[in-house]
Amino acid sequence: MTRTEHLLWILAEECAEVAQRASKAARFGLTEVQPGQIKTNAQRLTDEMTDLSAISQMLFKEGPLPAINFVSILNKEKKIEEFLLYSKECGTLDRDQTMPDWGRIDRS
Ligand SMILES: [Mg+2]
Repeated sequence: MTRTEHLLWILAEECAEVAQRASKAARFGLTEVQPGQIKTNAQRLTDEMTDLSAISQMLFKEGPLPAINFVSILNKEKKIEEFLLYSKECGTLDRDQTMPDWGRIDRS
């Protein structure tokens, strides 16, 4: 296995760990502390997102992945907000949950 392949497996593992922590936070709440743990679900999710950021940065710095550009991030945020509005229209998102105040910036 090459170094890049090894890093890609770590990336996959960290993605799975983020998915698990996000699921637990959604199911039991961000402030819940799982019995036997000392950190909240929010802290544990942030820990896993930190791990994911670290391995992502290694892959970007070492070159096997092209850099993420800032415009792509903003475009994705905009798309997510559009789907949140659609979810509200479908009745699957609670009222007044579509956009936080900081998200009201016009990015068009
Ligand atoms: Mg981890």
